[in-house]
Amino acid sequence: MTNWWEDEEGGGRERYEREIKALADAGFDPKPEVDPASGLLNVRVRVPVRAETHEMLIRYPANYWYFRFELFAPTALGFGRHQHPESGALCLIDQGTRHWKPSELAATVIRERIDKIVAANEASGPFADEAQTPEPISMYFEFQDNSAIIFPPEAYAIDSAMTSGRLDIQLSRRDPLRGYVERIDGTPGTLPDLSGAFPKSERIQCEWIRIPTPRRTSAAGIEQELIAAGRLRRPRPLPTLGFDLVALLFEEEVGYRGVMGPGWALLLRRRERGSWHPELIRVEPYDPRAQSARIAPISALETKTVFQIGTGCVGAPAAHLLAQSRLGRLRLADPDTATITNSVRWPLGFPYAGVPKVNALATFLRTNYPETKVDTAVWALGRPTQNDADILDQFLDGVDAILDCTAEIGIQQFLANEARQRGLPYVMVEATPGGFGGYVAVFGAGDDEACWMCLQRTIEDEALHAPLDRTHGVLQLPGCSAPTFTAAAFDIVPLSALSVRVLVQELVGGAYASRAWNVAVLRNRDDDGGAALNSPSWQLHALRHHARCRVHGGRAAA
Ligand SMILES: [Zn+2]
Repeated sequence: MTNWWEDEEGGGRERYEREIKALADAGFDPKPEVDPASGLLNVRVRVPVRAETHEMLIRYPANYWYFRFELFAPTALGFGRHQHPESGALCLIDQGTRHWKPSELAATVIRERIDKIVAANEASGPFADEAQTPEPISMYFEFQDNSAIIFPPEAYAIDSAMTSGRLDIQLSRRDPLRGYVERIDGTPGTLPDLSGAFPKSERIQCEWIRIPTPRRTSAAGIEQELIAAGRLRRPRPLPTLGFDLVALLFEEEVGYRGVMGPGWALLLRRRERGSWHPELIRVEPYDPRAQSARIAPISALETKTVFQIGTGCVGAPAAHLLAQSRLGRLRLADPDTATITNSVRWPLGFPYAGVPKVNALATFLRTNYPETKVDTAVWALGRPTQNDADILDQFLDGVDAILDCTAEIGIQQFLANEARQRGLPYVMVEATPGGFGGYVAVFGAGDDEACWMCLQRTIEDEALHAPLDRTHGVLQLPGCSAPTFTAAAFDIVPLSALSVRVLVQELVGGAYASRAWNVAVLRNRDDDGGAALNSPSWQLHALRHHARCRVHGGRAAA
């Protein structure tokens, strides 16, 4: 590919010439050069700052002017804000590609913005011309790739008079270092059960020390800073592990302009070819309030319990969404087993072949969303070989709503009735053969509302109709005892998502729960013939009492 600054046809050469001329006109004395490492265009410039001229470097990206240039200035300028403390990169333009205008020349941007950086650094309070965001030093840290130790909330509430202590860490990997802090100075930290996320762990102890806010950002830089200040002891390798580990606690900016709070990193020193090699290990805080804030309207879900029956291609994505939404407890029931063939539609693939679907999901959810408690039953409702009443009582104990993803009319009828009797909201979801469409219906606990039977009668009348593949929608595969249906996962997942949405609306209340409909019909095809010109589409209905419903027939409007 032609370098952008040499590209005659695409206008790159012309842009390059305009860039250089504008830099020269601005008095920046441009000296273009090709960076030997990247092969990209750099331009050395001389830029006045506070009445003194400083040598700086403009680095242009390969796909300039779709993307912004960067300007590197001496760290000796002493900027505390808007400059990378190690590389010297200046933050001339706010983060996010929307802040870069491709038509602007580097010379214009530098001329207009450099004085603002100076002013922002001289301002003592909030400064209107900058993004109102904190600049924690740890955002510049050069962490070891893929390393992370999870810290509990207690690590961020250590008494400021304490200068050192001990951490008990459960390690699941030594290189890169991964794990979580189990105890701080002997006291257990508040964390969910992380044995799924960090299996096969080994316990180690390490020292933590309080240090001044680091000015350097690389492992070697921070190590040197600490040695120079006499704060770092000589490496003392941990028994059997062969490396030294010390946790660093410091103050850093956590709120815009001077709001300080605790920050953490770990300094690991590994023996390599006769010398000690330092690494910075990333610390991930576990902060339930920060997670909850991202989904504030539905945060009450953490106190709720849902019974979900059916964990097939509609139900499994629904279970995933419920756990992601920090549901308190999820009870899953399904008799089926995950297979390789099924993985074209079921979200968990080859590693789970042969595992009951509820168990596969439970493993996946406990690993990824350990805040949600998961109970499972490999259970086919309706068999005479087991006492459903006992299992149901146990599974519905303390439940706030039922999600029925079975697409089994017999189970729907029974459970919708059971939900009414127990005063529980009931949500059902099913896809039609071929994945041509589907239904999501929500029935509140109130006796006056239209019910599942009202819906069935309405569908029988074809007053509601989700398209279905009448000819090829059901498939009998060799070796498979039950017929399955053809459908693409992406046609099915929207049904899962809407079923979870209405379920959550029933559970959390508030303005978010307002809804003028109780049945949604998804059309992935225009009709039963399978054309897809004007699909997908959703149709929302406020279901009425049906004259042939056993419960509501008498109340149906004539
Ligand atoms: Zn009814």
